Amino acid sequence: MAISQLTSTLSKEEDKLLACIHCGLCLEACPTYVITGDENDGPRGRLYLMRAVGEGRLSNTSTAFEQHIDRCLGCRACEQVCPAGVEYGQLLEAARAELFSSAKQRGFSYRALRFALKHIWLHPARLKFAFALARFMRDSGVAGLLLKSGMARRLSRRFEFGLALLQSSSSKGGPRFKANGKHANETPRVPVQPNRNPAATSAMLFTGCVGEGLFSRVNKATARVLKVNGIQPSVPDTQVCCGALHAHAGDLAGARDLARQNIKAFSNIENLPIVTNAGGCGAMLASYGHLLSSDETFAADARRFSERIRDVSQILKPVGIKAEAGVTTERVTYDASCHLLYGQHAGEAPLEMLAAVAELNFVRLEGSERCCGGAGIYNLLEPDLSRRVLDEKLANIKASGANILATGNPGCQMQIGAGALLAGMNLKVCHSVELLDESYARAGMYSKD
Ligand code: SF4
Ligand code: SF4
Repeated sequence: MAISQLTSTLSKEEDKLLACIHCGLCLEACPTYVITGDENDGPRGRLYLMRAVGEGRLSNTSTAFEQHIDRCLGCRACEQVCPAGVEYGQLLEAARAELFSSAKQRGFSYRALRFALKHIWLHPARLKFAFALARFMRDSGVAGLLLKSGMARRLSRRFEFGLALLQSSSSKGGPRFKANGKHANETPRVPVQPNRNPAATSAMLFTGCVGEGLFSRVNKATARVLKVNGIQPSVPDTQVCCGALHAHAGDLAGARDLARQNIKAFSNIENLPIVTNAGGCGAMLASYGHLLSSDETFAADARRFSERIRDVSQILKPVGIKAEAGVTTERVTYDASCHLLYGQHAGEAPLEMLAAVAELNFVRLEGSERCCGGAGIYNLLEPDLSRRVLDEKLANIKASGANILATGNPGCQMQIGAGALLAGMNLKVCHSVELLDESYARAGMYSKD
């Protein structure tokens, strides 16, 4: 790889790279460093490698650079504890762009990822078809059968885990509440609580590709919960994938392409907040300002777009979440999505949303601020390290005694759900907003049918 091309992305980030003062305070916050104990699997070591590539002292095809950048979860826990304010997430994207543009032939998984990102994810009709196939596998029972029979495992562990991820997106994997059968429609039957935030009477809902493809029930729950809190959601039908998978894989051109389409899709009512229920998507959408900062046509619109992004828990907070009926006597815990916590800085808002559910038997989860190992499709690209990160999470969940785990990102739902499924744990995984939605339904405010 020629040095001139090497320096195309990381060398432009020189100021950000030089901000690191090498104090090492980030090391213990880094899940991969804690597991391997290898300095190069920690933020400081990775920053050294990035700097060496940016300065042309190390090739972006070197095994060390490839291996340790690939092994980063991108969880951004290191940013949170860094006293120098190193913008690690942006630097990681630049490093992954170096790997993406390198001429090096990479393994089958990475080549398959490139193919899917380019030939499926950038084409909404193909993506819709791919998710329809996935739902067929899940809902017809084929995925379950392959898992139960052990056939999936015999084919490969990676295939088995992929099927378990799919299976755990099923509503059967989520909490099963007893329907009381009293409600006939989604129209609120009780007076809607006065909205204390007059600026937020309407919002636009970002539904997400995985969100709409595999978790449409969560999008529906989000819309119902917004409505009952006095916020009328609209759903632009030309929206596309947020581009997080592309950005995390280093395909910045693909991510920018999707970002421009979303900015146009959400531009007809400029000032309305854009609500997401997926931490990964929300953090990506909030980074469009940075992603398109060099685009003369879109830079200003991208900045404004990013300022409008709110997680569902964040937009409900100033409105005042209605507390209604209790939903379950099973023990519930909460695991924070890294991108919700560190990317969107929503630490307390999701917990406040859960606290609005009356009679919730809630227990805090040890290590809830730690990554679950899902990290997009890291679980399929780096299965061994992902599994070790997940095992720690599952052990903490077991210790909590919880039967229901709420989180704020479909990737986390699938990762923890898949791990629990394969480990034979009695654990249902859901989105936090589903619990609030259920409490409203139980209070007779609407039907979910
Ligand atoms: S905490 Fe920040 S400044 Fe210190 S080593 Fe880590 S990234 Fe560098
Ligand atoms: S993003 Fe996460 S895995 Fe990567 S260096 Fe930072 S703390 Fe470690």
